[in-house]
Amino acid sequence: MARINENYLKLKAGYLFPEIGRRVREFAKANPEKEIIRMGIGDVTQPLTPTVTKAFHEGVDEMGTLATFKGYGPEQGYEFLREAIAKNDYHARGVQISADEIFVSDGSKCDTGNIQEIFGSDNKIAICDPVYPVYADTTVMSGKTGYCQSNGYFDGIIYMPCNEGNGFLPELPSERPDLIFLCFPNNPTGTVASKEVLKTWVDYAVKNKCIILYDAAYEAFITDPAIPHSIYEIEGAKSVAIEFRSFSKTAGFTGTRCAFTVIPDELMAYDSAGKQHQVKPLWMRRHTTKFNGVSYPVQKAAAAIYTAEGAKEVKAVIDYYLENARVMIESLKSLGYTVFGGINAPYVWVKTKNGLTSWEFFDLLLNEANVVGTPGSGFGPSGEGYFRFSAFAERDNVLKAMERLRKI
Ligand SMILES: *Cc1c(COP(=O)(O)O)cnc(C)c1O
Repeated sequence: MARINENYLKLKAGYLFPEIGRRVREFAKANPEKEIIRMGIGDVTQPLTPTVTKAFHEGVDEMGTLATFKGYGPEQGYEFLREAIAKNDYHARGVQISADEIFVSDGSKCDTGNIQEIFGSDNKIAICDPVYPVYADTTVMSGKTGYCQSNGYFDGIIYMPCNEGNGFLPELPSERPDLIFLCFPNNPTGTVASKEVLKTWVDYAVKNKCIILYDAAYEAFITDPAIPHSIYEIEGAKSVAIEFRSFSKTAGFTGTRCAFTVIPDELMAYDSAGKQHQVKPLWMRRHTTKFNGVSYPVQKAAAAIYTAEGAKEVKAVIDYYLENARVMIESLKSLGYTVFGGINAPYVWVKTKNGLTSWEFFDLLLNEANVVGTPGSGFGPSGEGYFRFSAFAERDNVLKAMERLRKI
């Protein structure tokens, strides 16, 4: 008799985006003449840049020519890409990460989900609330939790509430975790962590033998020169942190698929007898066993963002999104909203007015302004009363959406 992984039965049905879709479809059906502006989903809107597209084409042409055709590539990623990452993303910031500590993959979503496989199922996981749902759901799938309680928290996960009171920065947990998910710049709140804040976490992890799983998918949106782009800019981090980066939001690769994970040689974890082991060989083993590499043209396209021209183009696209965020912040503030994020991140985190719940505010915006955003409560109980606007949109739509908000 085939039996299922019953941990999947504990998961809440994918609720947030399907429910948004349902309400939007219903509204559109009842109001076919209304033009709906979508500022809800965390997906980019601008195309790949010319330098990236050119490299992508060249990669395809090489694959179609006998002399340059390539079969399976190295599972860990082509050296030309890993060297470019090490040099531009790390060495340029004074961080010594070598190409052989970098694992190229088809996405950070997969990596942040798969990483738990190399850690024992008795590890305690700490996550922020609100949070990118992948960390919690994959923790449930891996059998580390009980059921979801009525407050929206899974038994067995350590939640770290992030709210206005703590500046949307998690506090050190009172119960000791083994693995800690952190994401800065944050999705959904747009918050960033200073060097001092990250130092607190690194010191805590060293002291308690924890590992920090650091999601830096939005690193490219950091505008403040004092904010670290990598957790490895913090002294001691290489012995306690894994870093996840993605070309998705950095360079518009959400549909192209390329990301990477960094596991430093120094990073250690323990077996049940308390003996120390290097973590990198475990991930290497997993990656080479279960993954056969990202396609050559895609890696070639990704490497193009590290050329002078490519970097300039990619930065222009990021600046375009950040200008959207600036416009939103300014308009929302002028309408009396309390606004967070959006300066070093593509997400603007807005407090609803008059005590509306996140979903009440969603319905108000949809019905009165025909604008779609994301209810904060969908990211966790502490997101209740907040709303996420995404800066991934066309400027005209941002301006139009803000104008419509003025009228409600
Ligand atoms: C978009 C996003 C990613 C990137 O995922 P990919 O699979 O690389 O597209 C990772 N983490 C967070 C928090 C994100 O919002």
